Amino acid sequence: MTQSLHGDDADLIIRGGRIRTLDPSDTITESLAVRDGVIVALGAEAEALDSRAVIELDGRTAIPGINDAHLHAAWLGARWPHLFFSDTPPEEQPSGRLVSTSEERRSALRRAWALLAELGITSYTEPGIGPGEDDGETGCFGSDMLDTYLELHRERAQTSRVTLLRLFGTIDGESTLDDFERGVRIPAPPSDPRWLAIPGVKIFADGIPPMATAWVDEPYADGTTGGLLTRGEPDARTAFRRMLELASARGLQIAVHATGDRSIAEFLSVLEGLHAQHPTPSGPHYVVHGDLATTEQIARMGRIGAGFAVQPLIAAHTHSWAAMQLGEARLASAWPLAEMLTSDALTTITSDSPVASPDWRLGLDASLALLTAAGATDDAGTRNRLLRSVTVDPARQDGASTWKGSLAIGMVADVTVLDEDPLTPGRDLATIGVARTIVDGRTVFSRG
Ligand SMILES: [Zn+2]
Repeated sequence: MTQSLHGDDADLIIRGGRIRTLDPSDTITESLAVRDGVIVALGAEAEALDSRAVIELDGRTAIPGINDAHLHAAWLGARWPHLFFSDTPPEEQPSGRLVSTSEERRSALRRAWALLAELGITSYTEPGIGPGEDDGETGCFGSDMLDTYLELHRERAQTSRVTLLRLFGTIDGESTLDDFERGVRIPAPPSDPRWLAIPGVKIFADGIPPMATAWVDEPYADGTTGGLLTRGEPDARTAFRRMLELASARGLQIAVHATGDRSIAEFLSVLEGLHAQHPTPSGPHYVVHGDLATTEQIARMGRIGAGFAVQPLIAAHTHSWAAMQLGEARLASAWPLAEMLTSDALTTITSDSPVASPDWRLGLDASLALLTAAGATDDAGTRNRLLRSVTVDPARQDGASTWKGSLAIGMVADVTVLDEDPLTPGRDLATIGVARTIVDGRTVFSRG
């Protein structure tokens, strides 16, 4: 195919391989031209342009830059190379205060960005930074970290685009309605939304099934059912609902950590009510995790244009642990990735790193295992669907589909170059090398 924007030269031409644009028609092209960070031509039109620089793919495959829609970069940078699910033994896991000074916070972010560039990740969502964590144990989630983000943003030091959600409680813990109400009243600081978008809030509704803290209908083995983490008068449930209403009234995007079917139901019932009252914010509201989402809940999420940010790699790591709490029968319907991906609910596949590895290839391999266990075939179509959940779909979650997530004309030149075509069935994505990462038309990682 040949197409171009006006003008007769380019800053960069990428050519000589297979470029999977992931546009709505799944166009494959062999060359792409970039001017001022934006894709201006594809195919022969791109080849015809004079360019200041050329990148030869040498038969490699280029795809849209990877977007990890739920990754704690500050925490990852502060802990790296120690992940929670890894070979690091418990006694060697970092603990206590990880970053205290501005210099330490800056290096944590820079370390994370270098790592993400190496992995081909060009965008991510930092889910939860704010005043509730100012005295937090790690130092990775407080207001100081937001200031560090803003500082590096103003210095144009970013090599990843960031969507940051504000948090008005503690990470993986409780939040009070008072703190939340005070927090949302303060507007997000100004920033260039293409590099540091601050569109909304993160709320922790419940815990996780393996700890029996997810809020569930059917009791755990010990007879308990978990519950909400929100606090306020007259009760946790009212506080939760009120938080959602406050955020929605201010046009904020809402991401709710919800793993149990009861907490998802509660979120959904409020969203369905709000849906009618308030215009949808730039990015859809969504459930983070959704481990025990039911078929009916997934369909309802799709109907109101909401979604899920899920972590199949964590599911793989915690499967037997969760089995002890949930029992095998309920476990069989947990992590319904296949149902989510075939529903209308927006579904992004994310790492939640540093909980699991930030390597999206491992996440997609774990996803492929879940899908084939549910009866899907490992073919180009299934792999295409998975690849979209780390490119096109996260851009939708960011409310940014008009300018990122695929490699069409007018979109930003965020490109990941892989040694092999990830759509070829029968091989682990983890065996496919990342050769180069390009953000805004600029190479931020190149191997060797
Ligand atoms: Zn998380």
